[in-house]
Amino acid sequence: MFPDGLTNVRNATHGFDLPTLLGHAGEAVAFVDSQWIVRYCNDVYLANAGKRADEVLEHTPFDYIPGFERSIFYETIEVCRRENKPMCRIGYSTALGRWLMVRVFPVDGGVLLLANDASQSVVDQYQLAQQALADPLTGLPNKLSLAQDLGSGHPATALAILGLARFDEITQRLGYAGSDKALMALGSRLQSASRDGERVYKLPGHEFAVLLSHEQPQLLPRLQALLGALRGPWPLGGQSIVIEPRIGCLPLAPGENDVESGLRRAALALRRAHAQPDNDIVFYEPQLELALLRRQRLESELRAALAADQLTLYLQPKVAVAEGTLAGAEALIRWPHAEGMIPPGDFLSLAQDSGLMPEIDAFVLRRTIRMLSELRSLGLEVPVSINLSVDALCDDRLESDIARLLAASGLPPRLLEIELPENALIRDVGTSMDVLARLNAMGVRLSVDDFGTGYSSFSYLARFPVHALKIDRSFITGLVTSPTHQKIVKGIIRVAHSLQLSVVAEGAETAEELQALRRLHCDTVQGYAYARPMPMPEFVAFAQRQQAVPRMRATSI
Ligand code: C2E
Ligand code: CA
Ligand code: CA
Repeated sequence: MFPDGLTNVRNATHGFDLPTLLGHAGEAVAFVDSQWIVRYCNDVYLANAGKRADEVLEHTPFDYIPGFERSIFYETIEVCRRENKPMCRIGYSTALGRWLMVRVFPVDGGVLLLANDASQSVVDQYQLAQQALADPLTGLPNKLSLAQDLGSGHPATALAILGLARFDEITQRLGYAGSDKALMALGSRLQSASRDGERVYKLPGHEFAVLLSHEQPQLLPRLQALLGALRGPWPLGGQSIVIEPRIGCLPLAPGENDVESGLRRAALALRRAHAQPDNDIVFYEPQLELALLRRQRLESELRAALAADQLTLYLQPKVAVAEGTLAGAEALIRWPHAEGMIPPGDFLSLAQDSGLMPEIDAFVLRRTIRMLSELRSLGLEVPVSINLSVDALCDDRLESDIARLLAASGLPPRLLEIELPENALIRDVGTSMDVLARLNAMGVRLSVDDFGTGYSSFSYLARFPVHALKIDRSFITGLVTSPTHQKIVKGIIRVAHSLQLSVVAEGAETAEELQALRRLHCDTVQGYAYARPMPMPEFVAFAQRQQAVPRMRATSI
């Protein structure tokens, strides 16, 4: 049935009635009423949808288009209805696998929808659109448009930049076409989540901007709602992709209209949000500028320190808790600096961001092998464990580098141990199981670091060729006072032992904690209760003392 409002156009079309005209149109046409029921559609529409008339008419598109609520159709109709004016959008239809130009007109009792294939014109328009105001990929307004809006007195109270952590992994998994689709989908979901008075823009790269008109204290909940709308998992390319959105937000002073300066400051806040996994929304504040300057200075100093081989490794003893004997050591990186010894927590993320991790990994490996050789030449056969970046653990070359260094040193491979953080093991290292298996076959030992902070199950862990679990310090702290921590640690130790894994407790600081761990049959303890990380000469003295008087006591700290 065709709606009255449209059939009445007959008189105005000189003898043609509109249904006949639309029936012969080259594009897909449908009339969707205000209850989302399709009351009319032409043959092209049916052919495109791959449906019969009785499957479409008097049904809602939600019934026969999978994921309709995320489609370009839904979004265009929604905006047309909300703003009550004709809307035209170009977007990618995942259902049809092509670009569409969708036009929606408000008419009596619903909307008239016209759609045609725009694949060719998208390509043609790409260059034009670049110079214009819309982002060609998502159809969203672009940075130029943002500049215009800010310049023409948009009543915005805040400028937010929304970025995606680990977006390059999406590109690696889905390819460029797939990551483009992800950006299109994100843009359209962000657009749907925006409210009156907000405007969403696509920035170059994989970032979006939003102008908001909320004042504090409503601003933060609004930003949280936008983040919430984007969190995954997203079904893309047949895979479930987890999106980790973060926001940097600049509250705008009235009349503030310099887009470059605004974006720069919001981006600074976003950068901080990326660096703090537990804080996904950061507001701009002037201290961030100082932090940036310090970071830039540190980065060049770190480069220089690496080139001059000025970094060093401290060794922290691991003690077999029942016997009180030295069981090994962990090598922990330190940066001797004019401002004092810089701990890894203060420079590893900087190294990660500036691409220096491969050099740090190479240094750690090289220096550890050298220390192991020195220890051995002093009659101290102490296994030493190292921490490597996740990228190194996923790199095929790791195995050959280690094999070469071990062969050159003549060290037995069992003296080298690699600590794999539990989170990385779950997230990334699964892909490089081969590398781990080959290292294991070579005789290198592997252990799971920070155990208990991730969500791996024992059955998952059993697939990895690991020798030991290191229980994270957060469980050891409070071991004496918290029955829950006691139960967790006891459970971990019991199951680990049943899988023939040895257990290291990290961060025991008191004699009471040591006592508790001994009672729970924990194998090894690494913590201030025995010793802090120390430079090589001190460690040698520590190990020699221990050889002379085997049973070690807790030091008071
Ligand atoms: P991690 O691998 O969990 O290392 C253990 C951290 O706990 C060390 O901090 C150690 O000094 C500290 N610790 C040990 N016992 C106690 C204790 O009883 N109480 C307290 N409060 N802390 C204790 P550090 O050396 O600052 O290292 C921090 C993190 O930096 C390491 O955590 C590791 O993730 C990373 N890291 C350290 N060295 C390297 C390295 O050479 N390469 C890489 N990629 N990461 C490293
Ligand atoms: Ca470690
Ligand atoms: Ca740890």
